Amino acid sequence: MIGCEIYFDTHAHFEDSPAETVAVIERAFASGVTRIVAVGGSAGLNAGALAAARAYPENVRLALGFDRDQAASATPEVFVETLRQLAEHASLAAVGETGMDFHYHPETGDAQRALFAAQLRLADEWRLPVIIHTREADEATLRVLDETPWRGVGLRGVVHCFTGDKAFAAHLLDRQLAISFSGIVTFRNADMLRESAALVPDGRLLIETDTPFLAPVPMRGQRNEPAFVTHVAECLATVRGTTAERIAEITRQNARQMFG
Ligand SMILES: [Zn+2]
Repeated sequence: MIGCEIYFDTHAHFEDSPAETVAVIERAFASGVTRIVAVGGSAGLNAGALAAARAYPENVRLALGFDRDQAASATPEVFVETLRQLAEHASLAAVGETGMDFHYHPETGDAQRALFAAQLRLADEWRLPVIIHTREADEATLRVLDETPWRGVGLRGVVHCFTGDKAFAAHLLDRQLAISFSGIVTFRNADMLRESAALVPDGRLLIETDTPFLAPVPMRGQRNEPAFVTHVAECLATVRGTTAERIAEITRQNARQMFG
């Protein structure tokens, strides 16, 4: 694979296990995936992301945050204070992931809303993009975005692992967000998602693996890793009538603009 296009995987989680992280990242490099955003979301995922970013400062960008599944365990103020302390010792490229999920945690909706809004405000204060998770919470997500002030220019962030329809994609594009597609777009039953993927403008398109979850076809069933983002690019190339090289190029440019 040496000499192939350079890919930017904008969403990967790492456990706090140095040997495993090094092995996964070295395999990514060997597949032409030379830029990765290491994404937090819990105390454990934040530690793993920090370790990956410290081990590969040239290649791995860092996002720290607390995701919706943490929402009921503390107040937003406690989470934000924790992020402030972590950020004193690390250089952040984004806040996240954070957001809303009514599929797994409908009962904590109010707490999710408050935690999401608090991190949107923190990202605005820090002038950083936000990495947003949203599942079965379309309206609630849009409402929080609309109610939370944002003073930035350019893009506000990215909705990662997008699984929505064309209408929801259009609403997110209206709100200065990029849309990132994961291995789910390669799944056999994902026709609706591929329709969404066809209409996202070049300047708003990102790709990711969401490592270690949801490996793309033909790796499905394996533990996912950034090296597999090439399969997401190939699928998007087919959907959008272009080449994987072109998808690699535009998503890399967009990711560099957002995450540095
Ligand atoms: Zn994630």
